[in-house]
Amino acid sequence: MYDVLADRKNESEDPSGCGPLLPTDSGDSRPLRQQIFEHVRAAGRAARTDVTRALGISAGSATTLTADLISSGLLREVEGLPRESGRGRPPVALEVVPSARHVIGIKLSDENHSAVLTDFAGQMLADATLPTTPTRKSIDELLEEIDVLMGLVLKSAGKSLADVSAVGVGMSGIIDNDMGAVAWSPLLTEPNVDLRSAFAERFGLPVHVDNDANVLTLAELWFGAGRGMSAFAVVTIENGVGMGVVLDNRLFRGARGMGLELGHTKVQLDGALCRCGQRGCLEAYLADYALAREAATALHRNPRNQQSPNAMLDALFAQAKAGNTAARTIFRRAGRYLSVGLSNVIQLFDPGLIILSGERMQYDYLYAEEVLAEMQSLTLSDGRTPCRVEIHAWGGLAWARGATALALAAVTDDALGDART
Ligand SMILES: [Zn+2]
Repeated sequence: MYDVLADRKNESEDPSGCGPLLPTDSGDSRPLRQQIFEHVRAAGRAARTDVTRALGISAGSATTLTADLISSGLLREVEGLPRESGRGRPPVALEVVPSARHVIGIKLSDENHSAVLTDFAGQMLADATLPTTPTRKSIDELLEEIDVLMGLVLKSAGKSLADVSAVGVGMSGIIDNDMGAVAWSPLLTEPNVDLRSAFAERFGLPVHVDNDANVLTLAELWFGAGRGMSAFAVVTIENGVGMGVVLDNRLFRGARGMGLELGHTKVQLDGALCRCGQRGCLEAYLADYALAREAATALHRNPRNQQSPNAMLDALFAQAKAGNTAARTIFRRAGRYLSVGLSNVIQLFDPGLIILSGERMQYDYLYAEEVLAEMQSLTLSDGRTPCRVEIHAWGGLAWARGATALALAAVTDDALGDART
Protein backbone atom coordinates (compact mmCIF):
# COMPACT_ATOMS: atom_id res chain seq x y z
CA MET A 1 0.00 0.00 0.00
CA TYR A 2 2.70 2.41 1.06
CA ASP A 3 4.78 1.56 -2.00
CA VAL A 4 1.97 2.39 -4.36
CA LEU A 5 1.51 5.78 -2.76
CA ALA A 6 5.23 6.46 -2.81
CA ASP A 7 5.51 5.50 -6.48
CA ARG A 8 2.60 7.66 -7.46
CA LYS A 9 4.17 10.55 -5.64
CA ASN A 10 7.41 10.00 -7.55
CA GLU A 11 5.62 10.23 -10.86
CA SER A 12 3.69 13.38 -10.11
CA GLU A 13 6.42 15.35 -8.43
CA ASP A 14 9.75 16.39 -9.79
CA PRO A 15 12.11 14.44 -7.56
CA SER A 16 14.70 16.60 -5.87
CA GLY A 17 17.29 13.84 -5.56
CA CYS A 18 19.62 13.06 -2.69
CA GLY A 19 23.33 12.93 -1.99
CA PRO A 20 26.12 15.50 -2.20
CA LEU A 21 25.70 17.88 -5.14
CA LEU A 22 29.30 18.98 -5.58
CA PRO A 23 32.23 16.96 -6.89
CA THR A 24 35.35 16.74 -4.71
CA ASP A 25 38.37 18.85 -5.65
CA SER A 26 40.81 16.11 -4.86
CA GLY A 27 40.10 14.00 -7.95
CA ASP A 28 37.44 11.35 -8.30
CA SER A 29 38.70 7.79 -8.33
CA ARG A 30 35.27 6.18 -8.59
CA PRO A 31 34.43 4.42 -11.86
CA LEU A 32 32.70 6.63 -14.41
CA ARG A 33 29.48 4.63 -14.34
CA GLN A 34 29.27 5.18 -10.57
CA GLN A 35 29.83 8.90 -11.08
CA ILE A 36 27.03 8.96 -13.65
CA PHE A 37 24.68 7.08 -11.33
CA GLU A 38 25.46 9.40 -8.42
CA HIS A 39 25.03 12.50 -10.56
CA VAL A 40 21.57 11.31 -11.66
CA ARG A 41 20.59 10.41 -8.08
CA ALA A 42 21.74 13.80 -6.78
CA ALA A 43 19.82 15.63 -9.51
CA GLY A 44 16.69 13.51 -9.05
CA ARG A 45 16.26 13.50 -12.82
CA ALA A 46 18.84 14.39 -15.44
CA ALA A 47 19.04 14.35 -19.23
CA ARG A 48 22.02 12.61 -20.85
CA THR A 49 23.25 16.00 -22.01
CA ASP A 50 23.34 17.18 -18.35
CA VAL A 51 25.42 14.14 -17.48
CA THR A 52 27.93 14.70 -20.29
CA ARG A 53 28.25 18.37 -19.37
CA ALA A 54 28.58 17.81 -15.62
CA LEU A 55 31.15 15.04 -15.86
CA GLY A 56 33.00 16.35 -18.91
CA ILE A 57 32.61 13.10 -20.88
CA SER A 58 31.72 12.44 -24.51
CA ALA A 59 28.15 11.81 -25.62
CA GLY A 60 29.28 8.38 -26.82
CA SER A 61 30.56 7.27 -23.39
CA ALA A 62 27.46 8.66 -21.71
CA THR A 63 25.24 6.65 -24.05
CA THR A 64 27.22 3.42 -23.59
CA LEU A 65 27.50 3.71 -19.80
CA THR A 66 23.88 4.74 -19.22
CA ALA A 67 22.72 1.85 -21.44
CA ASP A 68 24.72 -0.44 -19.15
CA LEU A 69 23.16 1.14 -16.03
CA ILE A 70 19.67 0.77 -17.53
CA SER A 71 20.19 -2.88 -18.45
CA SER A 72 21.53 -3.51 -14.93
CA GLY A 73 18.21 -2.22 -13.59
CA LEU A 74 19.78 0.71 -11.72
CA LEU A 75 18.65 3.63 -13.91
CA ARG A 76 15.54 4.07 -16.07
CA GLU A 77 14.28 6.51 -18.64
CA VAL A 78 11.30 8.74 -17.88
CA GLU A 79 9.57 11.47 -19.78
CA GLY A 80 10.25 13.88 -17.01
CA LEU A 81 11.69 17.00 -18.60
CA PRO A 82 9.72 20.00 -19.83
CA ARG A 83 9.55 20.45 -23.61
CA GLU A 84 11.70 23.29 -24.78
CA SER A 85 9.76 24.13 -27.93
CA GLY A 86 6.39 22.77 -26.93
CA ARG A 87 6.46 20.40 -29.90
CA GLY A 88 7.66 16.89 -30.55
CA ARG A 89 8.34 14.10 -28.08
CA PRO A 90 9.05 15.25 -24.52
CA PRO A 91 12.78 14.92 -23.79
CA VAL A 92 13.79 11.75 -21.98
CA ALA A 93 15.42 12.00 -18.57
CA LEU A 94 17.26 9.45 -16.47
CA GLU A 95 16.39 8.60 -12.90
CA VAL A 96 17.34 5.97 -10.34
CA VAL A 97 15.13 2.87 -10.20
CA PRO A 98 13.95 3.35 -6.60
CA SER A 99 13.16 -0.29 -5.97
CA ALA A 100 16.62 -1.49 -7.10
CA ARG A 101 17.83 -1.53 -3.48
CA HIS A 102 16.43 -0.80 -0.02
CA VAL A 103 18.32 0.17 3.10
CA ILE A 104 17.45 0.79 6.75
CA GLY A 105 18.97 3.58 8.84
CA ILE A 106 18.87 3.27 12.63
CA LYS A 107 19.59 5.69 15.46
CA LEU A 108 20.20 3.96 18.77
CA SER A 109 19.58 5.94 21.92
CA ASP A 110 18.90 5.55 25.62
CA GLU A 111 15.29 6.79 25.25
CA ASN A 112 13.87 5.90 21.82
CA HIS A 113 15.52 3.97 19.02
CA SER A 114 14.36 5.10 15.58
CA ALA A 115 14.54 3.57 12.11
CA VAL A 116 13.88 4.68 8.56
CA LEU A 117 13.47 2.51 5.46
CA THR A 118 14.69 4.15 2.26
CA ASP A 119 14.75 3.13 -1.39
CA PHE A 120 17.77 3.48 -3.71
CA ALA A 121 16.71 7.00 -4.70
CA GLY A 122 16.84 8.02 -1.03
CA GLN A 123 13.07 8.33 -0.64
CA MET A 124 11.78 7.51 2.81
CA LEU A 125 9.20 4.71 2.64
CA ALA A 126 8.49 4.12 6.33
CA ASP A 127 9.75 4.91 9.81
CA ALA A 128 9.40 3.41 13.26
CA THR A 129 10.42 4.15 16.83
CA LEU A 130 10.91 1.84 19.78
CA PRO A 131 11.02 3.08 23.38
CA THR A 132 13.88 1.69 25.41
CA THR A 133 15.27 1.87 28.94
CA PRO A 134 18.10 4.24 29.91
CA THR A 135 20.32 1.36 31.01
CA ARG A 136 23.46 -0.03 29.42
CA LYS A 137 22.85 -3.22 27.46
CA SER A 138 24.83 -6.18 26.26
CA ILE A 139 25.32 -6.47 22.51
CA ASP A 140 22.82 -9.35 22.44
CA GLU A 141 20.17 -7.23 24.18
CA LEU A 142 20.81 -4.36 21.78
CA LEU A 143 20.57 -6.66 18.73
CA GLU A 144 17.28 -7.98 20.13
CA GLU A 145 15.90 -4.42 20.21
CA ILE A 146 17.24 -3.76 16.69
CA ASP A 147 15.42 -6.92 15.56
CA VAL A 148 12.10 -5.62 16.93
CA LEU A 149 12.70 -2.14 15.49
CA MET A 150 13.55 -3.44 12.00
CA GLY A 151 10.47 -5.68 12.16
CA LEU A 152 8.31 -2.60 12.83
CA VAL A 153 9.68 -0.49 9.99
CA LEU A 154 9.59 -3.39 7.51
CA LYS A 155 5.99 -4.25 8.43
CA SER A 156 4.97 -0.64 8.01
CA ALA A 157 6.39 -0.62 4.45
CA GLY A 158 5.15 -4.13 3.57
CA LYS A 159 8.73 -5.34 3.10
CA SER A 160 10.79 -8.16 4.54
CA LEU A 161 14.42 -8.41 5.63
CA ALA A 162 15.19 -10.11 2.31
CA ASP A 163 14.41 -6.80 0.55
CA VAL A 164 17.12 -4.97 2.50
CA SER A 165 20.68 -4.66 1.13
CA ALA A 166 22.41 -2.99 4.08
CA VAL A 167 21.78 -1.25 7.39
CA GLY A 168 23.34 1.97 8.71
CA VAL A 169 23.57 2.60 12.45
CA GLY A 170 24.33 5.82 14.32
CA MET A 171 25.07 5.74 18.05
CA SER A 172 26.98 7.79 20.59
CA GLY A 173 30.44 6.66 21.56
CA ILE A 174 33.81 6.00 20.02
CA ILE A 175 33.14 4.20 16.78
CA ASP A 176 35.53 2.74 14.22
CA ASN A 177 33.57 3.20 11.01
CA ASP A 178 36.16 1.35 8.89
CA MET A 179 36.13 -1.75 11.07
CA GLY A 180 32.43 -1.59 12.04
CA ALA A 181 33.46 -1.72 15.69
CA VAL A 182 32.25 0.13 18.77
CA ALA A 183 35.30 0.88 20.94
CA TRP A 184 33.11 2.40 23.64
CA SER A 185 29.50 3.51 23.87
CA PRO A 186 27.35 4.69 26.78
CA LEU A 187 24.66 2.33 25.44
CA LEU A 188 26.75 -0.83 25.84
CA THR A 189 27.93 -2.68 28.93
CA GLU A 190 31.06 -3.97 27.21
CA PRO A 191 33.85 -2.16 25.30
CA ASN A 192 35.38 -3.18 21.94
CA VAL A 193 32.27 -4.70 20.38
CA ASP A 194 32.66 -6.07 16.84
CA LEU A 195 29.21 -4.90 15.72
CA ARG A 196 29.81 -5.82 12.07
CA SER A 197 30.37 -9.51 12.83
CA ALA A 198 27.64 -9.75 15.47
CA PHE A 199 25.14 -8.07 13.13
CA ALA A 200 26.06 -10.22 10.13
CA GLU A 201 25.78 -13.36 12.24
CA ARG A 202 22.33 -12.47 13.51
CA PHE A 203 20.74 -10.87 10.43
CA GLY A 204 22.94 -11.99 7.52
CA LEU A 205 23.28 -8.35 6.48
CA PRO A 206 26.14 -5.85 6.28
CA VAL A 207 25.99 -3.03 8.84
CA HIS A 208 27.77 0.34 8.67
CA VAL A 209 28.13 2.17 11.96
CA ASP A 210 29.24 5.69 12.85
CA ASN A 211 28.92 8.07 15.76
CA ASP A 212 25.72 10.08 16.01
CA ALA A 213 27.29 13.47 15.21
CA ASN A 214 28.65 12.01 11.97
CA VAL A 215 25.31 10.52 10.90
CA LEU A 216 23.57 13.83 11.60
CA THR A 217 26.20 15.54 9.43
CA LEU A 218 25.52 12.97 6.69
CA ALA A 219 21.81 13.80 6.96
CA GLU A 220 22.69 17.42 6.10
CA LEU A 221 25.13 16.38 3.33
CA TRP A 222 22.68 13.95 1.67
CA PHE A 223 19.24 15.39 2.40
CA GLY A 224 19.63 18.85 3.95
CA ALA A 225 21.28 22.25 3.79
CA GLY A 226 24.77 20.81 3.27
CA ARG A 227 24.03 19.18 -0.11
CA GLY A 228 25.47 22.07 -2.08
CA MET A 229 28.24 23.04 0.36
CA SER A 230 31.82 21.82 0.08
CA ALA A 231 32.80 22.81 3.66
CA PHE A 232 30.43 23.01 6.60
CA ALA A 233 30.19 21.96 10.23
CA VAL A 234 27.32 20.52 12.25
CA VAL A 235 27.43 21.18 15.99
CA THR A 236 25.03 19.13 18.09
CA ILE A 237 24.00 20.03 21.58
CA GLU A 238 22.44 17.01 23.25
CA ASN A 239 23.61 14.90 26.14
CA GLY A 240 27.05 16.03 25.05
CA VAL A 241 28.40 18.50 22.52
CA GLY A 242 29.29 16.79 19.25
CA MET A 243 30.53 17.92 15.89
CA GLY A 244 30.75 16.63 12.36
CA VAL A 245 32.69 18.38 9.63
CA VAL A 246 32.45 18.11 5.86
CA LEU A 247 35.61 19.17 4.00
CA ASP A 248 36.00 18.97 0.24
CA ASN A 249 32.41 17.72 0.03
CA ARG A 250 33.12 14.65 2.18
CA LEU A 251 32.62 13.76 5.81
CA PHE A 252 35.96 14.24 7.57
CA ARG A 253 36.69 11.25 9.83
CA GLY A 254 40.22 12.00 10.99
CA ALA A 255 43.07 9.53 11.12
CA ARG A 256 41.80 7.25 13.88
CA GLY A 257 38.05 7.50 13.42
CA MET A 258 37.57 8.97 16.86
CA GLY A 259 35.12 11.62 15.72
CA LEU A 260 35.55 15.30 16.40
CA GLU A 261 35.10 15.93 20.11
CA LEU A 262 34.25 19.61 20.19
CA GLY A 263 32.69 19.03 23.60
CA HIS A 264 36.04 18.09 25.08
CA THR A 265 38.08 20.96 23.67
CA LYS A 266 39.19 23.08 26.60
CA VAL A 267 37.69 26.50 27.11
CA GLN A 268 39.01 27.02 30.66
CA LEU A 269 42.25 25.87 32.29
CA ASP A 270 41.49 24.07 35.58
CA GLY A 271 37.81 24.77 34.91
CA ALA A 272 34.64 22.86 35.72
CA LEU A 273 34.86 19.08 36.02
CA CYS A 274 33.66 17.29 32.89
CA ARG A 275 32.14 13.82 32.91
CA CYS A 276 35.17 12.67 30.89
CA GLY A 277 37.28 13.23 34.02
CA GLN A 278 39.16 16.25 32.70
CA ARG A 279 38.58 19.88 33.57
CA GLY A 280 37.52 22.91 31.57
CA CYS A 281 35.86 21.06 28.64
CA LEU A 282 33.25 23.01 26.66
CA GLU A 283 30.76 20.29 27.52
CA ALA A 284 31.16 20.94 31.24
CA TYR A 285 29.56 24.38 30.63
CA LEU A 286 27.08 23.55 27.90
CA ALA A 287 25.76 19.97 27.93
CA ASP A 288 22.44 19.16 29.52
CA TYR A 289 23.98 17.53 32.59
CA ALA A 290 26.07 20.68 33.17
CA LEU A 291 23.02 22.92 32.93
CA ALA A 292 20.95 20.54 35.03
CA ARG A 293 23.65 20.61 37.70
CA GLU A 294 23.31 24.37 37.95
CA ALA A 295 19.56 24.27 37.55
CA ALA A 296 19.24 22.16 40.69
CA THR A 297 20.79 24.99 42.70
CA ALA A 298 19.02 27.84 40.90
CA LEU A 299 15.60 26.24 41.24
CA HIS A 300 16.25 25.19 44.85
CA ARG A 301 15.46 21.57 44.07
CA ASN A 302 16.05 18.94 46.68
CA PRO A 303 18.99 16.93 45.31
CA ARG A 304 17.42 13.76 46.75
CA ASN A 305 14.40 14.41 44.54
CA GLN A 306 15.76 12.71 41.46
CA GLN A 307 14.62 14.36 38.26
CA SER A 308 15.83 13.65 34.72
CA PRO A 309 18.14 16.28 33.19
CA ASN A 310 15.49 16.86 30.51
CA ALA A 311 12.74 17.63 33.00
CA MET A 312 15.14 19.80 34.97
CA LEU A 313 16.10 21.76 31.84
CA ASP A 314 12.48 22.24 30.81
CA ALA A 315 11.76 23.67 34.27
CA LEU A 316 14.84 25.91 34.02
CA PHE A 317 13.79 27.16 30.58
CA ALA A 318 10.26 27.93 31.81
CA GLN A 319 11.77 29.90 34.71
CA ALA A 320 14.05 31.84 32.37
CA LYS A 321 11.10 32.68 30.11
CA ALA A 322 9.18 33.86 33.16
CA GLY A 323 11.98 36.27 34.02
CA ASN A 324 13.87 34.35 36.72
CA THR A 325 17.28 36.07 36.77
CA ALA A 326 19.22 33.07 38.07
CA ALA A 327 17.77 30.83 35.35
CA ARG A 328 18.53 33.42 32.66
CA THR A 329 22.10 33.77 33.88
CA ILE A 330 22.66 30.03 33.49
CA PHE A 331 21.54 30.03 29.84
CA ARG A 332 23.40 33.27 29.16
CA ARG A 333 26.63 31.81 30.52
CA ALA A 334 26.20 28.59 28.53
CA GLY A 335 25.57 30.74 25.45
CA ARG A 336 28.84 32.63 25.98
CA TYR A 337 30.78 29.35 26.10
CA LEU A 338 28.98 28.25 22.95
CA SER A 339 30.23 31.49 21.30
CA VAL A 340 33.80 30.55 22.23
CA GLY A 341 33.41 27.00 20.88
CA LEU A 342 31.83 28.14 17.59
CA SER A 343 34.44 30.83 17.09
CA ASN A 344 37.16 28.19 17.49
CA VAL A 345 35.43 26.01 14.87
CA ILE A 346 35.42 28.93 12.42
CA GLN A 347 39.10 29.70 13.02
CA LEU A 348 40.11 26.07 12.53
CA PHE A 349 38.00 24.98 9.54
CA ASP A 350 36.77 28.16 7.82
CA PRO A 351 33.40 26.52 7.09
CA GLY A 352 30.86 28.20 4.80
CA LEU A 353 28.09 27.31 7.23
CA ILE A 354 27.69 26.09 10.79
CA ILE A 355 24.50 24.18 11.47
CA LEU A 356 23.40 24.03 15.09
CA SER A 357 21.30 20.95 15.60
CA GLY A 358 19.90 18.74 18.28
CA GLU A 359 17.02 18.75 20.69
CA ARG A 360 18.58 21.39 22.95
CA MET A 361 18.05 23.91 20.18
CA GLN A 362 14.55 24.48 21.49
CA TYR A 363 16.25 26.54 24.21
CA ASP A 364 16.56 29.66 22.14
CA TYR A 365 18.79 31.40 24.65
CA LEU A 366 21.58 29.26 23.28
CA TYR A 367 21.45 30.88 19.87
CA ALA A 368 20.21 34.34 20.75
CA GLU A 369 21.48 37.27 18.68
CA GLU A 370 23.99 38.07 21.39
CA VAL A 371 25.49 34.57 21.24
CA LEU A 372 26.05 34.82 17.49
CA ALA A 373 27.31 38.42 17.80
CA GLU A 374 29.80 37.32 20.44
CA MET A 375 30.90 34.42 18.23
CA GLN A 376 31.65 36.88 15.39
CA SER A 377 33.44 39.28 17.72
CA LEU A 378 35.77 36.46 18.86
CA THR A 379 36.60 35.56 15.24
CA LEU A 380 39.14 37.29 12.99
CA SER A 381 37.14 38.59 10.08
CA ASP A 382 39.69 40.32 7.82
CA GLY A 383 36.75 41.98 6.15
CA ARG A 384 35.43 38.66 4.83
CA THR A 385 31.78 37.66 4.88
CA PRO A 386 31.09 36.17 8.32
CA CYS A 387 30.36 32.46 8.56
CA ARG A 388 26.63 31.77 8.37
CA VAL A 389 24.93 29.98 11.25
CA GLU A 390 21.64 28.10 10.83
CA ILE A 391 19.53 26.40 13.45
CA HIS A 392 18.00 23.08 12.44
CA ALA A 393 15.61 21.66 14.94
CA TRP A 394 15.13 18.45 12.92
CA GLY A 395 12.66 15.91 14.10
CA GLY A 396 13.87 12.76 15.79
CA LEU A 397 14.22 10.94 12.46
CA ALA A 398 17.14 13.05 11.18
CA TRP A 399 19.76 10.73 12.69
CA ALA A 400 18.12 7.62 11.25
CA ARG A 401 17.96 9.31 7.84
CA GLY A 402 21.63 10.15 8.11
CA ALA A 403 22.30 6.50 8.93
CA THR A 404 20.55 5.52 5.68
CA ALA A 405 23.19 7.60 3.87
CA LEU A 406 25.90 5.37 5.41
CA ALA A 407 24.13 2.32 4.01
CA LEU A 408 23.23 3.93 0.66
CA ALA A 409 26.85 4.98 0.04
CA ALA A 410 28.11 1.46 0.83
CA VAL A 411 25.44 -0.26 -1.28
CA THR A 412 26.24 2.09 -4.17
CA ASP A 413 29.93 1.20 -3.89
CA ASP A 414 29.02 -2.50 -3.93
CA ALA A 415 26.73 -2.21 -6.93
CA LEU A 416 28.84 0.17 -9.01
CA GLY A 417 32.34 0.46 -7.61
CA ASP A 418 35.36 -1.48 -8.75
CA ALA A 419 35.08 -5.13 -7.80
CA ARG A 420 36.47 -5.48 -4.32
CA THR A 421 38.61 -8.36 -3.22
ZN1 LIG B 1 35.52 16.42 28.78
